[in-house]
Amino acid sequence: MPTVAIIGASRGIGLGFAEAYAADGWTVHATTRTPLRPGALGAVGGARGGSVTLHEMDVVNAGHIAALAAALDGVGLDVLIHNAGVYGDGLSREQVMEINAEAPIRVVEALLPALERGAQRKIAILTSQMGAKHGGRAPSGTYGASKAALNDSFRDREPQWRQRGMTAVVFHPGWVQTDMGGRNASVTVKASVAGMRKVIAGLQPADSGRFLTWQGRELAW
Ligand code: NDP
Repeated sequence: MPTVAIIGASRGIGLGFAEAYAADGWTVHATTRTPLRPGALGAVGGARGGSVTLHEMDVVNAGHIAALAAALDGVGLDVLIHNAGVYGDGLSREQVMEINAEAPIRVVEALLPALERGAQRKIAILTSQMGAKHGGRAPSGTYGASKAALNDSFRDREPQWRQRGMTAVVFHPGWVQTDMGGRNASVTVKASVAGMRKVIAGLQPADSGRFLTWQGRELAW
């Protein structure tokens, strides 16, 4: 079965991805800031034989990123999903920028060798429609600015990743019922994850560089 790494899988959409891939029997490498207190992530197992390995990862910790790359030495990674992100309550603008805009690029680049060993070579990064500068309203607040910066960095780097055989996209997951999205959000974690998994499964090399919704619709940057 294929192998997926999910960055930021302790709760919300990331946990949903880990549960869904494990249930389908994939080999799952899931990261959390608290592997000794895995919570619901600790209960994720493969009904059809999928195996789940937990890794410690605070995405702003360069040592954690290097350790994950080392742990995956020899592993062929089919799909990398960078999900970790913050809305930013209680954090400085610099911290939000580092977590939402800079870390995803660093994590992807550290894991390119593992993806090169994989068969599918697919990368999905969770961004937000709130980072769209032209397709919707202008990015609002620090969160929107951080996702706009992520989108800009993605568009800058993706051609190099593509040259290394990757198919990379950024996703707006919908307005999802998580701690971040709140209870009144319109989309369940299950539906958002199912939608994105379907899109990821169908990605072709020509799709690389696209900004997609959880339902596979193209968004304007
Ligand atoms: P949650 O707030 O429910 O979960 C956020 C996840 O990111 C947690 O697993 C959290 O880990 C992890 N995380 C946060 N900071 C770090 C860090 N420094 N290092 C490692 N992990 C970290 O968010 P959602 O599940 O709703 O969102 C997932 C992604 O989707 C985010 O990138 C978000 O911006 C994006 N998104 C969500 C929308 C929504 O409506 N929910 C809409 C648009 C985009 P921990 O438990 O340790 O805090």
